[in-house]
Amino acid sequence: MDEFAHQEIAVPIGPADVSAEEWNARVDLAAAFRVAAHFGWNDTIYNHFSARVVDAPATMVMNPMGIDWHEVTASSLIKSDFEGNDLSDSPLALAPAGRNFHSAIFRLRPDIGCVLHIHPVAGVVVSALEEPLLPIDQSSALLQGKVSYHGYEGLAEEADEGPRIVDDLGENRLLIMRNHGLLTVGRTIGEAFAGMHMLVDACEAQVRLFATGRQVSVLPQDLCRRVQEQVARRRDDATPGGGLEWRMYRRLALRLDPGFRT
Ligand SMILES: [Zn+2]
Repeated sequence: MDEFAHQEIAVPIGPADVSAEEWNARVDLAAAFRVAAHFGWNDTIYNHFSARVVDAPATMVMNPMGIDWHEVTASSLIKSDFEGNDLSDSPLALAPAGRNFHSAIFRLRPDIGCVLHIHPVAGVVVSALEEPLLPIDQSSALLQGKVSYHGYEGLAEEADEGPRIVDDLGENRLLIMRNHGLLTVGRTIGEAFAGMHMLVDACEAQVRLFATGRQVSVLPQDLCRRVQEQVARRRDDATPGGGLEWRMYRRLALRLDPGFRT
């Protein structure tokens, strides 16, 4: 079983004109789209995931407007620089708002390798609440102090909003975009994806709890810090995002439909 948990999915070799690093980013990001769609995080052809290309760090790959997340494949992603130029030969294009703030995050934060942005209903509901995400269980206790907030400014197409998103994110990897949705970043796709999973789950739990209309028991901050310390001692930070967790998601993507690797 231990061997199975570490098992990587087989990745067919990419096109000759695409570097191995870029192809790996494309396959991993396509896997993230398929699993995210499986979880119901997709919003038809809208919302975007992007990943930096490791051997060309001033470029990213991202989903174009026009295809659903169930349909995303490694080769359908568009490569772009951070100045708004598409570098892929594709009849499709990147959405302006998505391109704008994903590019800004990569440009201003060289440590970030992946940006995910979604509008799940529970995330939108929590984003519109006056109060922050509450620590009501073990998972949301882990997120205390780790979630930043960014106020809504309309479609994120203005060039100066990207830097404000980066400022509001600060050192955190999770961002609730007020009256809008959720954004996570990571050094790797796995790290951003694992963070998004925790954030979506925490939002869903909070929405369901509030729907009961009953008195809420909120965990005290010192207990939240204790849970965070306990988990930090166990986590292997050398494999961000939990290498094991991301391998599991990749196997899930393969089981759902191996076509994402093409
Ligand atoms: Zn959005």
